[in-house]
Amino acid sequence: MSVIDAGSYEKLALFIDGQWLSGEGRREQEVTDPADGSVLGMLPHATQRDLEAALAAAQRAFGEWRHTSPLERGKILRRVAELARERAEAIGRNMTLDQGKPLAEAVSEVRASADHAEWHAEECRRIYGRLIPPRVPGVRQSVTREPVGVVAAFTPWNFPFNQAIRKIAAALGAGCTIVLKGPEDSPSAVIALARLFDEAGCPPGCVNLVWGIPAEISDFLVRSTIVRKISFTGSIAVGKQLAALAGAHMKRVTMELGGHTPVIVFSDADVESAARLLVQQKFRNAGQVCVAPTRFYIHEQAYDRFMATFLEEVERIKVGNGLDPTTRMGPLAHERRVSSMLSFVDDAVSAGARVECGGERIGSTGSFFAPTVVSGVADSAQLMKVEPFGPIAPIARFSEFEDVTARANGLPYGLAAAVFTGSAATAQAAAASIESGMVTVNHWGLGLAETPFGGVKESGVGSEGGAETFDGYLVTKFVTELH
Ligand code: NAD
Repeated sequence: MSVIDAGSYEKLALFIDGQWLSGEGRREQEVTDPADGSVLGMLPHATQRDLEAALAAAQRAFGEWRHTSPLERGKILRRVAELARERAEAIGRNMTLDQGKPLAEAVSEVRASADHAEWHAEECRRIYGRLIPPRVPGVRQSVTREPVGVVAAFTPWNFPFNQAIRKIAAALGAGCTIVLKGPEDSPSAVIALARLFDEAGCPPGCVNLVWGIPAEISDFLVRSTIVRKISFTGSIAVGKQLAALAGAHMKRVTMELGGHTPVIVFSDADVESAARLLVQQKFRNAGQVCVAPTRFYIHEQAYDRFMATFLEEVERIKVGNGLDPTTRMGPLAHERRVSSMLSFVDDAVSAGARVECGGERIGSTGSFFAPTVVSGVADSAQLMKVEPFGPIAPIARFSEFEDVTARANGLPYGLAAAVFTGSAATAQAAAASIESGMVTVNHWGLGLAETPFGGVKESGVGSEGGAETFDGYLVTKFVTELH
C-alpha cells in the first residue's frame, strides 16, 4: 500500500476547546482511499480525558455563547459560508480521496453546504417568543425559546461536509455548543469544516470534534449529564440504539435515518425525461444517499419506454477514480458496501429477479461496483425491503393507484418519495397518500437549506433545514409575572 504525500491530504486531528490534538500516545486508525486502498493518513482517537475535556469546554463555552446576539452568531456563520466557497476545491479533493465520490460532486457538496450556514445565519434572527394575553390585569405572560444546551452529534460518511455543517450551524445558530463525532472512514471534510469555524471567529469550546470507536464515543457522550441533546444521521438500527439511550436519560433527539425511496412513474408522465433524471439521482454518490430513489414502480403502460431509456443512460455511466474528471461514479465508500451489494443481488436473483446490467464488482482494486439495474424483483426480496444504500436500481411494474401507494407505504421507512405524472390531481392524491417526510413531484427538489429535511415512521424524528431547523435545539420557557 502506498501512502500519498502527507502534505497534500488533510492533517488529521481532534479539535477540542480551540486546540488541534493528535499523537501523544493516542490510539490511531488508518484512513484509506476506497479507489485503491492506499493509506491517506492516521486518524487519532479521543481518549476518555479528551472526551471529558470536550464536554467541559462545550459546557463552559455555552455559558457565554447562549447570550451572544443572533447578529453575532450570524456573522460567524456567514463567514463560514464564504470560506467554504473559497476552499471548496481543496476540501472537495480530499473528500474524493477518502470518500470516493467524483470530484465535481464533492466540490458541489461543499459549495451547496455554504447555503446551510447562510440559512442558519438568517433564520436565527427569527427565533421569536410571544406574549399571551392575561386573564387578569397586571399579569404578564411571556413565552421564550432558549438554547437547549450542549449538543452531541454524530454524522455519517456519505456527505461528510453537508451532514456536519447542518448540525453545527443549527446548534450554534440556536445558541448551543456542540461536540461532534464525524465519520472515521471519511474524516477530512469535517476537520476542514472545524477549521472554517475556528477561522471564522467561533470562540474556543463552541465546536469540538472527536473521533473514535463510534459506539464507545456515543455511549459516553449520550450518558453525560452535560449533554442535553443528541443529533444523529445514519442507519435506523444505530438511530434506535441512540434514541433509546437518549430516552433513558430524558434527552431530546433529532434522528435523520435511512430511507427506501419509492419512485412512482404514472403512464401520463414524461417517461423518458423521468428516466434520465432518475438515473442521475440513483447513481449520484454511487447510490449512497439516504433519499436516493431505491424502489422503482413503473406503470405497466410506461414500463418498456422507461426501461429502455433508463438502461441506455445507465450504460453511459463511466465508473472510475473520482479524481478523473471523466468519472461519473466513483468507488463505494468502503469494502463493506460492496459485500452488501453482492448479497442484495444474489438474494434478488434467487427470488426470481433478472439482472439487466451490472450486478458485480468491478476490478480487484478498490471498492468498485457496477451500476446495476434489476427487473422483476419480488416485493419479498431484500432489495425491496431493506435500504440498499448503493448503486442498484430495482424496477417493478404496477397497474393500479391504490396498489402502488400501498406498496410504497408497505415498509417501516418514511423518508422521501418521488412521483412522476402529467396530472395535478394524481400528483396531489399520491403526495397525500404516501407516508413520507418528503415528496418530490416531476423533479428532484430535496435537501435545500430553506426546506425541511426529515423522515417519518422509522426514518427519523425532527427536521433539519427550513423554518423548522431550530425546533430541536430550543426549549420553551413560560414566565408569568404579576406587577
Ligand atoms: P453503520 O450503521 O455502521 O454506520 C452509519 C454511520 O453511523 C457511520 O457514520 C458510523 O460511524 C455511525 N455509527 C455507527 N454506530 C454508531 C454508534 N453506536 N454511535 C454513533 N455513531 C455510530 O453503517 P455503515 O455500514 O457505515 O453504513 C451503511 C448504512 O448506514 C446504510 O445502510 C444506511 O442505512 C446508513 N446510513 C445512512 C445515512 C443517512 O444519511 N441517513 C448515511 C450513512 C449511512
